[in-house]
Amino acid sequence: MLLPQAVRWNPYADLIFTNGKIVTVDSNFSVAQALAIKDGKLIVVGSNADALTVRGPNTKVLDLAGKTVIPGLQDSHIHFLSLGEDVTYEADLTYAKNAQEIVKAVADLKQRRNLKIGEWIRGTKWDQYKYPEMVTRWQIDAVTPQNPVYLTRTYRGAMVNSEVFRQMGINDEKPETWPGWWLKDPENFTYEDKIFRSQRHIVLDSGETKDVAVPTGVFLGARATRLLTRNPPAYTFDQDVESVKTGAEEMLRLGVTSIVDPSSRMGYDMRVYQEAYNRGWVTLRISAVYEGTFNTQSVDFIKQRLDAVKINNLGNPFLRWRGTKFYGDGGVGSRSSWISEPFEHSMEIEGSPNYGEPVMEDYKTREAQYRVAVDYGWDLHTHATGDMAMKQVVDLYKKLIDEKRRTNPNFSPRWSVIHAYMPIEPKTHVIDDMKKYGLIAVPNPVFNWQQGTGFATNIGETRMARLQPVRSYIKAGVMTASGSDYGVTTHNPWMGFYALLTRKDQTSGKVYGAEEIVDIKDALRTYTINGAYLTYEENFKGTLESGKIADLVILDIPSIDALQQNPELCFQMPDHIMMTMVEGQVRYAKRGFGF
Ligand SMILES: [Zn+2]
Repeated sequence: MLLPQAVRWNPYADLIFTNGKIVTVDSNFSVAQALAIKDGKLIVVGSNADALTVRGPNTKVLDLAGKTVIPGLQDSHIHFLSLGEDVTYEADLTYAKNAQEIVKAVADLKQRRNLKIGEWIRGTKWDQYKYPEMVTRWQIDAVTPQNPVYLTRTYRGAMVNSEVFRQMGINDEKPETWPGWWLKDPENFTYEDKIFRSQRHIVLDSGETKDVAVPTGVFLGARATRLLTRNPPAYTFDQDVESVKTGAEEMLRLGVTSIVDPSSRMGYDMRVYQEAYNRGWVTLRISAVYEGTFNTQSVDFIKQRLDAVKINNLGNPFLRWRGTKFYGDGGVGSRSSWISEPFEHSMEIEGSPNYGEPVMEDYKTREAQYRVAVDYGWDLHTHATGDMAMKQVVDLYKKLIDEKRRTNPNFSPRWSVIHAYMPIEPKTHVIDDMKKYGLIAVPNPVFNWQQGTGFATNIGETRMARLQPVRSYIKAGVMTASGSDYGVTTHNPWMGFYALLTRKDQTSGKVYGAEEIVDIKDALRTYTINGAYLTYEENFKGTLESGKIADLVILDIPSIDALQQNPELCFQMPDHIMMTMVEGQVRYAKRGFGF
């Protein structure tokens, strides 16, 4: 039977949005009034009249009444797998300003999850730099004496309550149960290790009293934290798979439609992602999961690993593996960035000038490691925070690109410098080479806000003003894609916007590097089209232009200039997200809003 023409070929849109401010993020940053979507793609971006020309009998039309539409955001650096578990099971301490707010977050979580006696209470992202006084276990005991509490620090460190010590067999009243480290630090502590103690009046079982400084529950550093032998149970495989689903929901609620997981481990993490995908839970684009993470591994080891994987750039736009990650150094918060001028307070803290910790100081060895990955056809993405690390990465990338271009003049890989904190230091200026060779910077602007005080303490205010110089990157013409570095920071992209628009430190309110503040347009580019470029997807996403995919976010603000004029609005943005759409599908909608 021959079908009528109109059934065989339906020219009409599925959905039309009218009367909006469609921020296209195209090359002119033009703003349209309406758009039309068909089969997940944008078929018209223009005026109301333009969009309504493709209105058919079954087309749904939504009047945006002046709301703003932006392309779906991309977080180009997020350790995503734990996000769903963190938001489901743990208290987020990112916004706590003092000890009382930490205690309240613990009490709130206990109530929200209706936790019974004995169940673990978990939290993440405290930072002792941020409070007038760090919380103590006794304050936490007061709201939850019978649940073990374990709160993870932003970096290595943990905070526990007295119930955890009790489960470890330690009794405040019985000195014979006190481990060797109870009153005095063990010998093997490094500069980063610290046990907080405070003077307590203790009544012993014998009836005697004693005044001693005992642990408050706060442990800083890897070695100190390892002294805590009672830990919350590890999440199960099923919980990990479910975390992909709940993590995706959380990001979509904030307007994020694409992510890059920068350090997916071969094997387990891939299995978790694949299982989540098979269950239909990958509802945002996990479009560039890097394969494996290499540090000091030998060339043969790297070869074996990459040879075993047999895939490169395999997958679909919702789950794709691409690129290898290498580590160049540590971080500013942990005083381990590889830098040309020592960390502040080195003499007091480390006892000698601390220039950080290069992972592979020897250029030749690092070059050989890189060459294996490049020969296997993998892109290079290197964690480099300090200026010496950035110099090594950029110098070696240049060398390898020059070499490849001798046989393939068009070789222009999208290799990135992850974190990319210090490209404009006097001794190690690399920003011009990054532009020249098309190297991509993937900074995490939110650190300037969330960790500003700790970072400024470690590197000094002058260097802090040059840390993650996004304006300089953009002025120099370096492609810059923002990521959160969630796991350490908050995953809320709007706090990244806040950092880009203000460079204000959360704790002190100080602005470090006002000349590196960018405007909302550039900020938005780093979270949209530039991210799409990093993952080779700029041809089908990253802007709202006819022919591209309908990944978009509807914001209940009159225009993005509202954020420019009042960056404090970033704090409220999660409440202003009305709808998030991925490929024309509504993946999040605020209650009461929709077709
Ligand atoms: Zn990271």
